Parts: sequence; C-alpha cells; structure tokens
Amino acid sequence: RFITLEGGEGAGKSTQLRALAAALRAQGVEVVETREPGGSEGAEAIRALLLTGAADRWSPRAEALLFAAARADHIEKTIHPALHRGAWVLSDRFLDSSRAYQGMGELTDADILTLHRIGSADFLPDRTFFLTLPEGEAQQRAWVRDGDAADRIGGRDAAFHADVAAAFARFADQEPARIRAIDASGKPEAVTARLVAALQDLLP
Ligand code: C5P
Repeated sequence: RFITLEGGEGAGKSTQLRALAAALRAQGVEVVETREPGGSEGAEAIRALLLTGAADRWSPRAEALLFAAARADHIEKTIHPALHRGAWVLSDRFLDSSRAYQGMGELTDADILTLHRIGSADFLPDRTFFLTLPEGEAQQRAWVRDGDAADRIGGRDAAFHADVAAAFARFADQEPARIRAIDASGKPEAVTARLVAALQDLLP
C-alpha cells in the first residue's frame, strides 16, 4: 500500500510518518519511509536544486516541472520497487502538495494533474491523510521547531497558509475515498491512533 501525509508546515507530518511506520511495523508490515521532493538519488539531486539559491531562483513553471520530474523518478526508482516486493510506502508529501503549492498561482490544479499524467501516468496513493490544525497553532509549532528559520514560513502571510489549507480541504471533498482529513491537534500519540484507525480497511 502507498500512503501519503499532507498538510501545511507545523502540522506534524514528519513526526506522524515515523510513528505510523513504527505502528505498522509492529503489525509485521515492511515499511519504507520516504519524502518529497526527494526519495531517490535523482529526486534528491532535484531537491537540492529546488531548496538552494534565492526563493525566486525558479520560475513557477520551471519549479512545477522540477517537482514533477522529481516525483517521476521517486516513483520509478523507490516507490514502485518497494510496492512490488510487498512493502508499504509512507511518503511525507506527494502530488497533493504540488497541487496545493504549485497549482494555485500561475498554474492551475488541472495543469499539475496534466504534468502528473505525463510524468507518472496518474499514479496515486491508496490513501492520503491531510493533517489539519487550527490556524495559528501550526504557526506556533513551526516557530517552536524552527525558531528564526521560521521566517521562511512566517514570511508568508496568513492568507497564503489559509489558501493552502483550503486547497487540501477541497481535494479531500473531491476524492473522499482516497483523501481523509485527520485532526492533528492534541498529543502526538492520539494523532497516530487516528491515523492507524483510518487505515484499518487497508490492512491485511
Ligand atoms: O515538508 P515541509 O513542510 O518541510 O516543506 C517545506 C516547504 O516546501 C513548504 O513550506 C512548502 O512551501 C514547500 N513545498 C512546496 N511544494 C511542494 C512541496 C513543498 O512549495 N510540492
């Protein structure tokens, strides 16, 4: 099974990914933990291109193509081989992040989905969890985690984060069988328990 975690910064995706992987391993499942952009040698090289240099290093269109290229390599080199040998793959961000971040400016959601068709033949997760937090709480957590580096996050205004959250909520409405919103507030163990419960139908 292929599971992805999505949400804004500070929602706890990375923490929950580790905890969910541990919970699945305890049930005897082989789990591969991965992330986007990255997750394969080529995609990690593209990640370095995307995350270094000035914020405006790439035009929005070039950036979307780089994300799509990284995803194509990630799927071909890491995700498909793992799924074929029967492992579960958990990814910290995937296509829906591109839809939310690259698909709400110069490019549309339909554009991002077209790039995904060309790059990755419309390959989709079996389930996607969208971690939700009340506005403000995510910001707070990001500050605690990143300190001054949270300028990277805080530099974007609240309206941007609200737009990202609204985009994920829209995707969940459009594809309720695949995308589930999960309340990410409260203790980490409580959030993990919600995730495990929302996966029961996929377990052997
Ligand atoms: O995964 P993480 O929360 O560390 O992501 C860091 C940043 O990468 C996010 O703030 C987001 O703006 C950016 N990102 C993006 N497009 C993606 C994935 C991530 O702009 N497809």
